[in-house]
Amino acid sequence: MRHRVQSPQMAPRILRGGHDLGNHTMHHLDIAAMDAQGAYAEISECARRLRALTGSIGRWFRPSQTHYATPLIERAARKAGYPTCVSYDVDSLDYTDPGPDAVVANVLGSARKGSIISMHLGHPGTVTAMPAILHGLASRGLRPVTLTELLAP
Ligand SMILES: [Zn+2]
Repeated sequence: MRHRVQSPQMAPRILRGGHDLGNHTMHHLDIAAMDAQGAYAEISECARRLRALTGSIGRWFRPSQTHYATPLIERAARKAGYPTCVSYDVDSLDYTDPGPDAVVANVLGSARKGSIISMHLGHPGTVTAMPAILHGLASRGLRPVTLTELLAP
């Protein structure tokens, strides 16, 4: 996981590509183990960085190293400007580099309409797996959308 801004040029590029860019904390620590002040600092520091890079803090926050936000995390996120904490229901496990066939099987074995699938940058197997994932989803009448399209009223 990234512990500093390693590829700042990617932030505006992601948005230009039509994607959402959210906040996943500044240092990717176990935010569920932090006190309110520490959790807020992790979220607000990342928000400041996002605003500097893109002009916006983004709409979505996903807590780091925990599947679901706790009430403390939700309060810290709201204070930092994120009314909604997001999680995922399908873990591709791509970050364990199990090979593209396993990534495809992990995703297609669990993805349903409305699923949020956890996938990562920086793992070549993920890129290799994408055509088969997209084809498999399309064969079920599913297509990937941004969180904004999925969740925003
Ligand atoms: Zn993460």
